[in-house]
Amino acid sequence: MPVQIETYQKILNEFALQNVQLVAVSKTKPNEDILALHHLGQRDFGENYVQELVDKASLLPKDIHWHFIGHLQSNKVKYIAPFVYLIHGVDSEKLLLEINKQAQKNNRIIDVLLQVHIASEETKFGFDAFTILEFIQSEKALLYANVRIRGLMGMASFTQDTVVLTREFSTLKNIFNESKMHLHTNYFDQLSMGMSADYSLAIEQGSTLVRIGSLLFGARDYQK
Ligand SMILES: *Cc1c(COP(=O)(O)O)cnc(C)c1O
Repeated sequence: MPVQIETYQKILNEFALQNVQLVAVSKTKPNEDILALHHLGQRDFGENYVQELVDKASLLPKDIHWHFIGHLQSNKVKYIAPFVYLIHGVDSEKLLLEINKQAQKNNRIIDVLLQVHIASEETKFGFDAFTILEFIQSEKALLYANVRIRGLMGMASFTQDTVVLTREFSTLKNIFNESKMHLHTNYFDQLSMGMSADYSLAIEQGSTLVRIGSLLFGARDYQK
């Protein structure tokens, strides 16, 4: 399926009005598809797999902001640390420690989002609400000098029930607000929630970064 240019433009217009930023999720899609959107001005792209991201980043324009949105294993941080723009799914202190270490090695500061588990399914990664607030209140984040915690990320349940989706997004927004209150930084300002199927509800609940794949690039041959 070709890149959905009209949908892209419609989404961009909608997001501009709502002050929401689009991350075009290009996992499993070829470089030509990314270039097609890049040509229209899109700079933020999201990828889930380290090897795929490293390969794409080496070939594609250097002005792309690469968002890592998948589950990241600590032993792979080193491969993306030199160039990654924002890591969305940080779900353990161990991972945070490793990102900090690799950021130091690369002499840079890496922006991250902490992933919060909001879905009812067991399979989605993330801190639970209690742990995240405890972590934020402990001010341990300050120990990681080369990491900037820019906000939170979450994935809602795999359901079409808008009541459930709205409740999960609103829970995440509340945790975000509470975290922000306890943090004495002015850069905790990003809330990554919403995908192709549920982005309108996520925006209603305060999303600032929306990760959209299949609406723009068509269905994927395989999903993860
Ligand atoms: C694949 C993926 C998306 C995009 O999903 P679509 O339903 O294709 O929009 C968004 N966020 C994460 C974490 C993903 O893995």
